[in-house]
Amino acid sequence: MSTFSDPRIYLPGSLASIPALLGLFLATGCGPAPPPAPIQGNTMGTVYTIRVASLPAGLSLAALARDIETELERVNAAMSTYREDSEISRFNRGPADTWLRVSPELVAVVMAGQAIGEASQGAFNITVGKLVRTWGFGPAGQREAPPSPAAIQNAQSAIKASALQVRLEPPALLKELPDLEIDLSAIAKGHGVDRLATLLEAAGIDNYLVDIGGDLRTRGRRHDGTVWRIGIERPLISGRQVQQVLGMSQDAAVATSGDYRNFFEADGERYAHIVDPRTGTPVTSKLSSVSVIADDCTTADGWATALTVMGPEAGYELATSQGLAALFIRRDGETFSERMTPAFREHFAAGQIAIQTGITQ
Ligand code: AMP
Ligand code: MG
Repeated sequence: MSTFSDPRIYLPGSLASIPALLGLFLATGCGPAPPPAPIQGNTMGTVYTIRVASLPAGLSLAALARDIETELERVNAAMSTYREDSEISRFNRGPADTWLRVSPELVAVVMAGQAIGEASQGAFNITVGKLVRTWGFGPAGQREAPPSPAAIQNAQSAIKASALQVRLEPPALLKELPDLEIDLSAIAKGHGVDRLATLLEAAGIDNYLVDIGGDLRTRGRRHDGTVWRIGIERPLISGRQVQQVLGMSQDAAVATSGDYRNFFEADGERYAHIVDPRTGTPVTSKLSSVSVIADDCTTADGWATALTVMGPEAGYELATSQGLAALFIRRDGETFSERMTPAFREHFAAGQIAIQTGITQ
């Protein structure tokens, strides 16, 4: 299976379950009965992998795989900007000052995005859709040169989180600016992970690893009683190497954002898919990736993007003051350096998550 097969819609996968990433820990003959095969497929322009320690009696792997596909289909039908008939696309095309009825799940994700937007002082902004499209990172496809300053300014004038109204009863969205476009790509993968976690738990599965394009959530243990292991990738432009291996003794979600996979280059400049709504341009800093650990993956995913926009200094300070568990990886030429917030370090100190050494490739 090829990862990130569609270059237009890459969502970075800088985390991966270690077996998926390295082909390690495959059943080798003796020991406990092998676990059910992983369930894999494509969604949101990337690959998903679900591993469960065991299946409840009466539930087949095929039936579970079907339920997972159906749930992901529901997420995409609501939130994909790559589908013209999705709720979000209809909203983006629709008129101003008119409530559009949408699913309660979409309202919940929009509210989560708005909250991260406020907490990050606008660095994270789900009304960034037109700007992302203008830079060629949306459904319209990639660019070969930056857009004109006028086009950037025009797209920037469509960004305004306070012009997006959200209503719960009945669930609906309204925009006060006709050009305003919502883009939930920074948070939708994490939401998808959470939806699958809920689905698994409802089916009676308490030991699982859910991975959508490197945004992950684990619960319980692997089939042999050992902890789930996930790899944080070294943010390399080409090739894949593991920077850090985390052993998950605690149920948690981990998501990563970075500038190192989805970008285009023009005249020696690299333009990454994460844009700063305040400047209208792609983020440029020595920060290569940010990983966030949280209870749920929507939060981890949203904050990983928000901190990437904020950069190594302001991002680190905000993450620390908000008590967020974040790992910042910086690139200086060929070398990488890491910086952990106190909350990230505490996970290790408390033994909830362990850095596992000895796995170097
Ligand atoms: P992620 O891979 O989770 O970091 O999300 C990156 C995606 O989020 C991009 O491809 C854009 O669609 C979208 N995005 C880019 N910049 C921002 C931003 N400042 N706030 C919210 N979403 C953004
Ligand atoms: Mg994100």
